[in-house]
Amino acid sequence: MRITTVLRRLLGVTKMFVEEVCFTVDGDLAVTVRPTWRLSRCGQCRRKAPRYDRRPVRRWRHLPWGRCSVDLLYEPWRVDCRTCGVRVEQVPWAERASRFTHDFEELAAYLAQITDQTQVHRLLGISWQTVGALVERVVARRIDPDRLSDLRRIGIDEFSYRKRHRYLTIVVDHDQRRVVWTGEGKSSETLVPFFELLGEERCEKIETVTIDLSAAFIKAVREGLPKAETIFDRFHVQRLASAAVDEVRRSIVRKLAIEPEQAKAVKGTRFILLKNPWNLSRRQRSKLAELQDTNRCLYRAYLLKETLAKALDYRQKWRARKALDEWLSWASRSKLKPFVKVARTIRKHREGILAYIKSRLTNGLVEGLNAKIRMIARRAYGFHSYQALAAMIVLTCGGIKLDPPLPTGS
Ligand SMILES: [Zn+2]
Repeated sequence: MRITTVLRRLLGVTKMFVEEVCFTVDGDLAVTVRPTWRLSRCGQCRRKAPRYDRRPVRRWRHLPWGRCSVDLLYEPWRVDCRTCGVRVEQVPWAERASRFTHDFEELAAYLAQITDQTQVHRLLGISWQTVGALVERVVARRIDPDRLSDLRRIGIDEFSYRKRHRYLTIVVDHDQRRVVWTGEGKSSETLVPFFELLGEERCEKIETVTIDLSAAFIKAVREGLPKAETIFDRFHVQRLASAAVDEVRRSIVRKLAIEPEQAKAVKGTRFILLKNPWNLSRRQRSKLAELQDTNRCLYRAYLLKETLAKALDYRQKWRARKALDEWLSWASRSKLKPFVKVARTIRKHREGILAYIKSRLTNGLVEGLNAKIRMIARRAYGFHSYQALAAMIVLTCGGIKLDPPLPTGS
C-alpha cells in the first residue's frame, strides 16, 4: 500500500488526497492534501464555481497522532462565484473561516460538553476564546433543525450571568426536555424573534407555557401565543411567600432592637422559617414552637407560607381553588403588609396559578437546566459574549449528541 493511502486512511477524512508528509521543526506532522473533487466550490454558498486565483498555503489543525500534532496544508483556490463574487473555495475537511478540521472541532466540542476549559486547553492546546468560536460552529452544524416543529408545551425563564448584570431568556421544550431557543435580555421584546422564528402556524400549536410572574413574559406570551394556556410556575409563587416571611421577620427584628429578650427569640430563625417543615431538626422545631408563643406575627407569616404550599399540593382543581381562596382571604386580613401584597399578586394571576394543578408542569426543568448552565458559566468559556454562552448552552442542554472521532473500542 502506498504511504499516502495509509496516511489518508489514518487521517480519516473523506474526499481528500494526501500528497506529501513531512515533520516540522517542532516535530509535528505537516500533511499536504487536496480535495478529490475536480471543480472547486464556493466557500459561501457551496455551489460549483470557476477558479479565479490561488491563495498562499493555509493550515488546519487535525486530530493529534500520538504525541504529534497534525496540520493539514493546502493552497486554496479563490473562485469567482456567480452569486457571491470572488470567494475562497470550500474544502471537504473544514468549515469556512475555521482553522480546524471538522473532526478536531467535534472532539473539542465533545470535550467542552463534559469538562472545563482548563482540561480542553491541556488536551488540545486551544484557548477558551477558540473553544467558544468553535462551539458556535459545531452547534450551527449539529443543532436539530426540527426542534421547533412539534412544540406543544414550553417553559420560559431568565438566566443572569456576568454577576447578574446581563440576562438571557431560555425557552425549553417540556416534552423533549431540552433548550430550543435562547435570546439576549429578559424583556417582552426578547421573545419576539422567537415567535417570528416559529411563525404563525407553529405558534398556534403551542398549548401550554410555563413562566414566572414577570410582567414582561406575561405580556410577551399574551401577545405572541394568545391561544396557549399560561401556567405560572408554582415555585416562583411560593418564593413570593418566602420573601414575605423574610420581610416580616426583618421588620420585627428592626422593631425589637430595643427589646432584647424578644429579639433573642426571633434571632436565628431565618432558615427555620424558610425551610420545609419536614426538613427541620428537633432543635429547629422547638425553636419554632418557642416562636409560636413569643411572636405570633412571625409565626402567622410562617403558617401563611406553609398553607400556600399545601394549597398547591392538591390534585383536584376544585380543592386547590377552595384552599387558595381561603388562603387569599386569610392573607388579605393578616395585617402583615408583605402578605397583603402577595395576596394581591396571587389574586391577579389566580387562574394561571391554578392551571398548574391539572398539568403539574413547573419550570423545574428550566431551573434544573439553570443549575447546569450556571456550572457551564463557571467553567469560564469566555462568556463575555452572549453568542458564546448561548452556543455553549445549546451544546450542553439542547440535546446535541456528539460522537467523538475516536476508535469506538468495539
Ligand atoms: Zn457562492
